[in-house]
Amino acid sequence: MALLIKNGEIVTADSRYVADIYCQSETITAIGKNLTAPPDAEVIDAAGKLVFPGFIDPHTHIYLPFMGTYAKDTYETATIAALCGGTTTLIDFVIPNPDEEPLSAIQTWGSKSEGQACMDFTWHMAITSWDSRVESQLREIVKSGVASFKVFLAYKGALDIGDYGLYHAMTLAKELGVITTAHCENADVVLELQKKLISEGKTGPEWHEPSRPAYVEAEGTRHIAFMSEVTGGHVYVVHLSNEQALSQAIAARQRGVNIWVETLIQYLMLDKSYAERPDFEGAKYVMSPPLRDKANQEVLWNGLRSGLISTLATDHAPFDTTQKRMGIDDFTKIPNGIPSLEDRVRLAYTYGVLPGKLDIHRFVDACSTQAAKIFGMFPRKGTIAVGSDADIVVYDPSHEEVLSAATQHMNLDYNGFEGTPVKGRCAAVTVRGELQVKDGQFVGIKGHGRFIKREPTH
Ligand SMILES: [Zn+2]
Repeated sequence: MALLIKNGEIVTADSRYVADIYCQSETITAIGKNLTAPPDAEVIDAAGKLVFPGFIDPHTHIYLPFMGTYAKDTYETATIAALCGGTTTLIDFVIPNPDEEPLSAIQTWGSKSEGQACMDFTWHMAITSWDSRVESQLREIVKSGVASFKVFLAYKGALDIGDYGLYHAMTLAKELGVITTAHCENADVVLELQKKLISEGKTGPEWHEPSRPAYVEAEGTRHIAFMSEVTGGHVYVVHLSNEQALSQAIAARQRGVNIWVETLIQYLMLDKSYAERPDFEGAKYVMSPPLRDKANQEVLWNGLRSGLISTLATDHAPFDTTQKRMGIDDFTKIPNGIPSLEDRVRLAYTYGVLPGKLDIHRFVDACSTQAAKIFGMFPRKGTIAVGSDADIVVYDPSHEEVLSAATQHMNLDYNGFEGTPVKGRCAAVTVRGELQVKDGQFVGIKGHGRFIKREPTH
């Protein structure tokens, strides 16, 4: 069906103007003044509202097994929540067990997402072991449209593949032209610090941050940059949380390393004092890398504003308060994650754009356009242009709301930003021309989402 969005103020990464947008067969086909539509077209009056390209979250965990339990969202609940918050595309991680073949994990994630997603999605392929069979399956997986890898420097004995695996994975990535995303924390040091703290009886969630101090992440970032120099592969540092790690990435970039940086809304809004809350309340705020000292927030905002940090993501990984209690006697057993898939865009708008920490174009760039460019979806996704997918957010900047578990769509019994006021609401969200959200509520077609095949980017 045809769709006409009238009189909105269109804001992309590089332009701002008032115009109508006409969409047909899933695609934006015209942008201009006083466009007309056939009588059966859906018409959205966007006067007085901001019109953004659909936002992209390049880092989520929807299906996620963890120590015998699973993250709470399904592809259906997660994508409904994401859409209500203005995110129209996400990149989830396919993570094989170290003894599982990559293709088998792809099938698992396929079965979890098929017919469930209400918006478009794609995957990063995690490499958790290395041998010739893994290598040949990865070649097949890239050919099938999964054009980015993920490696863990962290999680010793579980997901970490060591320098042998890193070297081979990144050499293959270079050959195939795919980018490698990396969790950068020194696995050995984290493990030893964890053992030391636990042996000293320091078992509460407030000890999570001291077990993975900023230098552990800085070392991981330096290390992945070095492996990029060795192999020539492009790298993307996921969830960078602090100044020391950012300095390593900037230094590498100055040496000519093809390195990109992502930060998370949690690091901009929350700090380590949340994980120090009494009565195990702090467990809600355990994620890795951990929430940091507040002084890092200004550095990260500045990094985002200047483009030294390319993208703003969530690392959405929802475990409820019962699951968090798995770590009641040992913080290393607390499932990691502070869910924020639904809240990222409104928080970045309210606490970034409105106080002037983030230019509105950089906001669109960091929350949408850069992810599309880095991961091979631009200009199909990430902008408003003729020929792009009709993924559009009509944002009502006058609306006021308070974030709360009671009203969220994420399938979870808490919200890490409980009680935080936000400005703005998604008056309308479309995915390939289909109206999926109206006035902040899902009104669309379940299962409308499609897997996006991507080509290598370099
Ligand atoms: Zn993650």
